Amino acid sequence: MARILFFALIAAIIYWIVRRAAAPQNRRADPSGPAAGAPMLQCAFCGVHFPANEARFGADGRSFCGEAHQQAAFHAGTK
Ligand SMILES: [Zn+2]
Repeated sequence: MARILFFALIAAIIYWIVRRAAAPQNRRADPSGPAAGAPMLQCAFCGVHFPANEARFGADGRSFCGEAHQQAAFHAGTK
């Protein structure tokens, strides 16, 4: 009986180690968040602040929160 418990314990430890090895990618992203420590930019069209890695840039170098506002500013400027 003690031998069965011993192998059950070993299996549980292996399972725990495998789960810990597989988890870090998900666990590391949650507490910090995608925007933590990232530089922020302001949209030239609507003025919202957003992470620089999501920025869209116009031909004149202005930054936009998304493709829709990049396009909107482009069309507004070419009237
Ligand atoms: Zn915008």
